[in-house]
Amino acid sequence: MLAGLLAALGLTIPALPASAVPAGTYVPRRVHVAPHGGFSHVIYMNDCRPGGCIVVPGDDDSRSNRSSIPQMTSQLDAWPHGDAEWDELVRCVRETYAPFDIQIVTDDPGQASHFEVFVGGDPEDLQFSDALGVAPFIPCGGIQDNVPTFVFANVDNRTDVLCWAVAQETAHAFGLDHVLLRDDPMTYLTPPYRKRFQNQAGSCGETMNEPRECFCGDASQNSYAFLSATFGASNLPAPGVVITSPHAGAWVVPGAPVSFTVDSLLAMQEVALAVDGATTSSLGQPPFAFNLPLVMTPGPHQVRVRAVDQRGLEGQAEVNVVVLGACGGGTTCGSGTVCLGGVCLPDASQPGGLGATCETPVECGSGQCTATAENGAACTAPCDDGRRCPGGFTCAGDGVGVCWPAGESGGCGAGGTGGGGGGWIVILGLTLAAGGRARTRARTRARAEL
Ligand SMILES: [Zn+2]
Repeated sequence: MLAGLLAALGLTIPALPASAVPAGTYVPRRVHVAPHGGFSHVIYMNDCRPGGCIVVPGDDDSRSNRSSIPQMTSQLDAWPHGDAEWDELVRCVRETYAPFDIQIVTDDPGQASHFEVFVGGDPEDLQFSDALGVAPFIPCGGIQDNVPTFVFANVDNRTDVLCWAVAQETAHAFGLDHVLLRDDPMTYLTPPYRKRFQNQAGSCGETMNEPRECFCGDASQNSYAFLSATFGASNLPAPGVVITSPHAGAWVVPGAPVSFTVDSLLAMQEVALAVDGATTSSLGQPPFAFNLPLVMTPGPHQVRVRAVDQRGLEGQAEVNVVVLGACGGGTTCGSGTVCLGGVCLPDASQPGGLGATCETPVECGSGQCTATAENGAACTAPCDDGRRCPGGFTCAGDGVGVCWPAGESGGCGAGGTGGGGGGWIVILGLTLAAGGRARTRARTRARAEL
């Protein structure tokens, strides 16, 4: 009975955990939305601090804190979770709505048209129970401006959950229904708790395996497409991709990890790795982490990372690398290369080769430029087990040591002395990219995960 009453009054998102979900009956009507106009593109997130909010019953109007939800003049408690948590929530809601031309503001727009979500208090404050949020049911046929919605922040303190609730309730005010897509904020399904509008058609409904016709008569709903068509797309740039490892010109071995960052407020629909123009790995979900193929011919190759965001806009970055051949166990290296650590490294006859002069690590294929007090700086690589180096090099410095040109004046003397003079300085310890699991993943500017 209570569920029926809730459904008649509005669309609620249940408090978590909760098993009972209100599933009312609604009259299907067609949506005829006037694109992009006639209504505000602003959502005011009202934290009701410091003294709480007064909401008066009546026709929905955010400008005068009037709502069709409460049955009497009601007071909502203020946001209870602190400044940092509020900022985090605002950031999450902004990110969720980032694909669309919708502004999320935290200062009251006053008499200017705006949608509004009150974020505070308990459901009991508005004569509800067991709900995380509530929104009025907006009749089909167009957008009604200035509709207030509610998220009861006393019920839960998790940013992802509150963010989901804010997105769902505010989008109900635009006319969106519940869908059976667990990544979309218009769903009741969990996990995950972190939701973003999905550019994908989903059946309407509240419970898995119980799809129903959408409120306004459609067979399915694409929340993302609806918001894009209604408000227009935001003006965000395409994703910015930067490959952080390997660096340009680096020597790599097959299977080496490829590390990169993706700068975007939007979720990615695809991130892919290509070698010499051919895609070798493609992922549709985070974590986005890649390794080079395990089989690659020695020599130069181009490595490219491409990221495609929810809108289909794409960014990419590429580096040219040199894949090293294997040596040892009877296999020797060709001319111009020397065997170290089981791979054939270019020698000082090649730019960035082992023993070539350098000023910065990125000049070296190994990513390691070692400076000495007296003998300048050269591209080096860690000595092999037992402090061994190829012919023409000696292992210098403390610990594992670095292979240093034996013929260099003073270099021989320094080699193997354990760095008694303290003259060996590895400028930057970017070690030769070795095989193994990729350690770095894509990140967004706003949050750690896409
Ligand atoms: Zn809902």
